[in-house]
Amino acid sequence: NTFAAIDLGDLLNQNIRRCKYVKPTPIQRHAIPIALAGRDLMACAQTGSGKTAAFCFPIISGIMREQYVQRPRVARTVYPLALILSPTRELSCQIHDEAKKFSYQTGVKVVVAYGGAPINQQLRELERGVDILVATPGRLVDLLERARLSLQMIRYLALDEADRMLDMGFEPQIRKIVEQMDMPNRGVRQTMLFSATFPREIQRLASDFLSNYIFLAV
Ligand code: AMP
Repeated sequence: NTFAAIDLGDLLNQNIRRCKYVKPTPIQRHAIPIALAGRDLMACAQTGSGKTAAFCFPIISGIMREQYVQRPRVARTVYPLALILSPTRELSCQIHDEAKKFSYQTGVKVVVAYGGAPINQQLRELERGVDILVATPGRLVDLLERARLSLQMIRYLALDEADRMLDMGFEPQIRKIVEQMDMPNRGVRQTMLFSATFPREIQRLASDFLSNYIFLAV
């Protein structure tokens, strides 16, 4: 029951120690090995359960292995490898802060984009390159329309607080976003859906976006 017992690699384990995480929370203990094994995951997780690390660790670990994969060379277009969708600016910024700490010295680049702030600065930040993009759905749709940003290479998709995103009316945006990564990418993408509740709409999202997934309630 330690992080060292989970196969995350030395660098990530160092960063976990630096964050003063001593032992995994229940969601981390169960979700991380499932995700590292490449399985899709739908997890029941409340705020404070440690869910951010539960999806960030496998994503960072996977990207450390894959960040040198050839991405298409299209002028000024950026191809993130992972996308984390969250309902609000506050949550997105929190995830971004944590993901940056977890990926310290790994070379994995994390960028955040959220609504209610000027888009130009976020565009410039994106143009400098991004491996993991943390975003709110509305702003991401805006960016996809304005930026040279492609979701074709997305290998990891995490939907955080999915029930809250649906409550806020983001379902059309989420579907539009996932459609953009589906066509070239089917079978390659690993998807993790986190939600505090499981109403019928969430189950429908899961059956549309996840394949052969494991359901986890801790
Ligand atoms: P979250 O549920 O992801 O928002 O995490 C809630 C809080 O718990 C955050 O401040 C995390 O930094 C912290 N946290 C997450 N996992 C651990 C852990 N394994 N050990 C100690 N603190 C943790």
